Amino acid sequence: MNDCRRKVVIVPCSGIGKTYGTVSREAAYEVIEDMRPADTQLVALSLLVLGDEDARAAVAGNPAVTIDGCKLACATKMVEESGGTVAQDFAVLDAYRRHRQFKPQGIAELNEGGQKLAHAMAEEVAAVVDDLSGDGGKDA
Ligand code: SF4
Repeated sequence: MNDCRRKVVIVPCSGIGKTYGTVSREAAYEVIEDMRPADTQLVALSLLVLGDEDARAAVAGNPAVTIDGCKLACATKMVEESGGTVAQDFAVLDAYRRHRQFKPQGIAELNEGGQKLAHAMAEEVAAVVDDLSGDGGKDA
């Protein structure tokens, strides 16, 4: 344990009004608020789009994990355009292919399948955070 561990930036896409976008945000919040609060920080895609200096600095100075709702990969593209490094990109559609039993529905409120899919993604993201933040790994 040391105090020099890097914070991993988590950037969910902003698929407002889309079920997969909601899943991406729910997964991100679960990692940041419940699973790895000490090792992660949320950067809102909307701030990167607006060119917010703090948001750009956060992605430029830390490894980023993106969670996109669909193939357009808005979060991944925006992190790269903001000078950041995407250490791992997740896509809700891919996660659904791995967890077909969790069919997401709903937008403002996810159905049970959507909540379970978000949870499954959050666990995958948390495992990547552990690798990136130094738990069990060494700085390259
Ligand atoms: S990645 Fe897809 S769902 Fe997410 S904001 Fe972009 S277009 Fe919308």
